Amino acid sequence: MSDLPSSASMILKIAVPVPLFKTFDYLLADDLKIESLLPGLRVTVPFGRSTKTGILIEIVEHASSSGRSLKTIEAVLDEAPLLGEADIALLHWACQYYHHPIGEVFIQAFPLELRKGKAAHIKTEKNYVLSEKGLLLSADQLKRAPKQQALFEFLQSQQNATIDQLKQWNSNWRGAMKGLLDKQLVLEQSASASAPAVIRKIRKQAPLPANAQQTAAIEQISTHANEFSVFLLEGVTGSGKTEVYMQVIDQVLQQGLQVLVLLPEITLTPQLEQRFQQRFAVPIVATHSRLTDRQRLNAWLQMQQGRAMIMLGTRSALLTPLAKPGLIVLDEEHDSSFKQQEGFRFSARDVAVMKARQLNIPIVLGSATPSFESLYNAEQGRYQKLLLLERAGGAGKPFFQILDIRNKRIYDGLSEPLVTAMKATLAAKQQVLLFLNRRGFAPVQMCHSCGYVSRCQRCDANLVIHYEAACLRCHHCGSEQKMMVRCPHCKQGELQPLGIGTERIEKSLHQLFPDHKILRLDRDSTQRKGALENYLDQINRGEADIILGTQMLSKGHHFPNVTLVAILDVDSGLFSIDYHSAEKLAQMIEQVAGRAGRAEKRGKVILQTRHPEHPLLTVLINQGYPAFARNALLERKQANLPPYSFQVLIRVQASDTQSPLSFLSLLSDYIHGFPDSGVAALGPVTAPMAKKAGQFRYQLLLQSNQRKSLHNLVNQLTTIIQASKQAKKVRWSIDIDPVDLY
Ligand code: ADP
Ligand code: ZN
Repeated sequence: MSDLPSSASMILKIAVPVPLFKTFDYLLADDLKIESLLPGLRVTVPFGRSTKTGILIEIVEHASSSGRSLKTIEAVLDEAPLLGEADIALLHWACQYYHHPIGEVFIQAFPLELRKGKAAHIKTEKNYVLSEKGLLLSADQLKRAPKQQALFEFLQSQQNATIDQLKQWNSNWRGAMKGLLDKQLVLEQSASASAPAVIRKIRKQAPLPANAQQTAAIEQISTHANEFSVFLLEGVTGSGKTEVYMQVIDQVLQQGLQVLVLLPEITLTPQLEQRFQQRFAVPIVATHSRLTDRQRLNAWLQMQQGRAMIMLGTRSALLTPLAKPGLIVLDEEHDSSFKQQEGFRFSARDVAVMKARQLNIPIVLGSATPSFESLYNAEQGRYQKLLLLERAGGAGKPFFQILDIRNKRIYDGLSEPLVTAMKATLAAKQQVLLFLNRRGFAPVQMCHSCGYVSRCQRCDANLVIHYEAACLRCHHCGSEQKMMVRCPHCKQGELQPLGIGTERIEKSLHQLFPDHKILRLDRDSTQRKGALENYLDQINRGEADIILGTQMLSKGHHFPNVTLVAILDVDSGLFSIDYHSAEKLAQMIEQVAGRAGRAEKRGKVILQTRHPEHPLLTVLINQGYPAFARNALLERKQANLPPYSFQVLIRVQASDTQSPLSFLSLLSDYIHGFPDSGVAALGPVTAPMAKKAGQFRYQLLLQSNQRKSLHNLVNQLTTIIQASKQAKKVRWSIDIDPVDLY
């Protein structure tokens, strides 16, 4: 009947999520039609002894009778591919660029439920909206039923409310809801019943009148509204970047197009989500690790089907297919959490730029402290730089003070001048924020008589003292030990804490400031679900006087009443062997400083250091981040380091020292066989942390001035690795554009 080849003569190439650099061949069951099969469809296939979810990549004709021994696919899971052509092209590009197995890359595009083979249906989730009658009523008319009135006002502020949202609003919502349902002011509906969003109204709230620089940025972006271009929006914290995003998003929504907004996990807060909900009337979904798998699936499908118009998400949201793509925004683009550090080691920033290119839409990268790569790309004319130099609310820049703590009295990490400054701030009823990137009580326990130091037996690392948990803990492998008093080595000396951690500072703060409320925010104190949100609310309500925390404080959160910020230990970041560390330290200092003095209050930032003359500090403080970045980029250029060259890091580990070394020697010998390849191989060397969780670690760094030569070589290496016996004895990984040489 048709001239299509019969299904019996076709082979299906399937990407199966296993660590192998190839697709697998399967046959089609007789009752399935070949016409209905398209790349991107999910299928289930028998694989070894199990069944796996795979993705159809290609359909090819039989070469010969080779197909006879092939297995047949078990089922086709989707009626139509969930991924679009641009999505598929992007995933192919990512496999090649990151030299990562195709099956593992393709499966990343799907949320967990779809990876497990669940149906791509938005699950019916009950929700409540105001009825036509409800829309016409004013809340005052319910004032004789105050609970109903409050719920009614809540519903007025929401597009619709799910049961989860209602529970969050008030655990006793059901009674009031029954009242409103009886009065027919509210309708109960299920989410999947609603047709793809017919957008009648875009805004709930008018945009703020943009200032001159915001206007220039918005206009510049909108001139390129329907084509690929990359914008680097550089503006200090509080300069109104989010307002710029929202005004550009508004224009994109006017065209009926969707927007993907990517943020680091820690900055995607309920407050930000609320800000978007307050501004826009369109359906918005947020997706992050605090949601259930089902909720993440729903969010993904709502974008894929065009029901939702805005997605706020973390790194994992990047590969979500967009039904009507219009714009990508990636905020805090310098943040290292955009790089996935295990498995498929992609940079969400770089892949987002490629995604925008494939979709032919603009992308806005925003930051107060842009990454050196992006600054370099802007300098090269690949990205368009947009500047916001002033704080939007009119607040001045914070004032920096380098505090030389040599020969100063120090109470557990707090120098005397700092304590004096804190007292003054607290007396003025303002908040203080202290920053120390080390949790626990003290980083080491040491014996005063013999010098014994508590070490992790499985890692090249000291055990950190955690008094609250009454244990010593390794921050690298999680091993724990009971706390000891006597030295296990000389059996005489008493063990003493050495150095400072957040727990220890908290303790001395209680002694120094007994009448003030102190909050400590670090991974240990915020482990409970909702604890972080709870603390942030307390801070914003002004219930905390002194806030102490780790890097989770340096990002995104707005603390309007904080006017004094202190970074307690700058020095630990000043001397590192990783060339990225200067960039990271400068970004951290600027970001922490960004928490101070919003609106009408000017902030002060104190940096405690024993190296007050260090050029990193003096340039940063006296000339600002842009000047610092210019200098540091010049140094990278002179040293021929990225972004002026390209790097690939091959990491290997095993439970013995010999197999990683012989594996890497195999690779470096191969590379040395091509002296003209334009690629330098540095190593094999032991990793900066030579042992971790009982594994010995080694690495080989490849560097070249030509990306292409580097990629060609890595292609050859992956072929060698797959054929080699040595590879079976080790765990290895390839990290393209590494940002962390550890
Ligand atoms: P950023 O994202 O750069 O930190 P935001 O967009 O959050 O900055 O703006 C910081 C504060 O300034 C917010 O409270 C915001 O409402 C306010 N703001 C931003 N733009 C304007 C403007 N054009 N006029 C008045 N206030 C503004
Ligand atoms: Zn350990």
